[in-house]
Amino acid sequence: MIWRLLSLLLCQAFAAGLGWYLAPTPWGLPIALASALVGSCLWLVLDTTRGLRMLAWLRGGAQGDTAIGNGLWGEAYDRVRRILRATNKRTQESDKRLTDFLAALQASPNGVVLLDAEVRIEWFNQTAALHFGFDAQRDLLQHLGNLVRDPGFAAYLAEHNFDHDITMPGKESRDAKPVKLSVHLHPYGGGRMLLLSRDITAVEQAEAMRRDFVANVSHEIRTPLTVLAGFVETLQTLPLDDEERQRYLGLMEQQAQRMQTLVNDLLTLSRLEGSPPPPNNEWVSVDMLMQHCEQEARDLSRLLWTETHDLRFDRTPDCEIAGSAAELHSAMSNLIGNAIRYTPAQRRIEVCFYMSPEGGAVFYVHDQGPGIAQEHLPRLSERFYRVDRSRSRDTGGTGLGLAIVKHVAQRHGGELHIESTPGKGSTFSITFAASRIRCETTGA
Ligand code: ADP
Repeated sequence: MIWRLLSLLLCQAFAAGLGWYLAPTPWGLPIALASALVGSCLWLVLDTTRGLRMLAWLRGGAQGDTAIGNGLWGEAYDRVRRILRATNKRTQESDKRLTDFLAALQASPNGVVLLDAEVRIEWFNQTAALHFGFDAQRDLLQHLGNLVRDPGFAAYLAEHNFDHDITMPGKESRDAKPVKLSVHLHPYGGGRMLLLSRDITAVEQAEAMRRDFVANVSHEIRTPLTVLAGFVETLQTLPLDDEERQRYLGLMEQQAQRMQTLVNDLLTLSRLEGSPPPPNNEWVSVDMLMQHCEQEARDLSRLLWTETHDLRFDRTPDCEIAGSAAELHSAMSNLIGNAIRYTPAQRRIEVCFYMSPEGGAVFYVHDQGPGIAQEHLPRLSERFYRVDRSRSRDTGGTGLGLAIVKHVAQRHGGELHIESTPGKGSTFSITFAASRIRCETTGA
């Protein structure tokens, strides 16, 4: 400001000086006035030029630098620049915060959709795009109701009662592979809404499995219990001779045995699911397991059939498996037991353990039983899944054997494989990872 006044005063002083210098001449006064006028005009032109330069700079979005100089315009220019710099910094910071915030929402495992007061889509994350089939280019600012056309959701949207969520099929839901979503709208400031979606397919499946499991267990236990209760009633109400009484008691024992086996298998399964993986530094002799299984197999074959099977156990060079002896025995004896139970007497059953060429080892049981149709194979290791229900029950099956085998195999880094041809027989095998096997012959 001072510089501005000073420069103007300097122009005036220069003119006054010139007038004073030329005063004795007749042109002194006009020259002094003319120089004062020219000086003032010059000053005005210079000042206006700087003002215009600053205006042009502001009109151009205050980009880059411009030469304004000192004085009033210089200070105004500096202050505007400082304010702009501070505003830019704040904008950049809030932009970064917004980007971070959106990145966090983007990383959310749940779908997030921001809706304006007219229920139009303002923003959505990848998960929401997947859940509802939104397209980032096409669907922004579209009305949500036009894109999510599930009738349940339309009713929910129209109802305006958002204190609960609803479940609806996801965009990718198919009969063969259903996808279930839990969807909840949350109103917030200015009539806007936040739509949250969660994929609950796995939760629903787990819940359905739990329901099925409870129903299956109840059903499996109810049958022998009903039979037992019937026999008890008979013993209590009918005058029976000793022989009849013994026969009934024998039948009751069978039913009690059946329940006991079922409970034992259930406990085994729950132990397998709930316990830490078997140790990988405790070595179990395969030969010992095979001997034990062979003895049991011959006893079972004699017990169930009048004529026994042609049982062939292929004893391998002494190999060891790292893991739990009890679990391995349970898996092997389940497979051998099934072969004996389902294969008619006198037919051949082969049990073998061998080192596979790719490393690792294979334990397999091959029988000449009825075989299993292809469509059943993928479901055989589900709990309580049976192909031949009555044969399974008659021979003391619980429907849990293969589920146990599959768990044991997985816990020992292996897998259960099933091959079968109806009318010819089946081969059930467990493959073990090389890291869990050591054999004397291989020196591993
Ligand atoms: P279960 O106690 O009923 O035998 P599993 O889980 O061991 O239960 O087996 C499931 C079903 O697989 C059996 O009910 C039976 O129908 C079929 N199955 C298992 N092993 C054999 C086999 N060796 N031959 C024919 N069918 C078999």
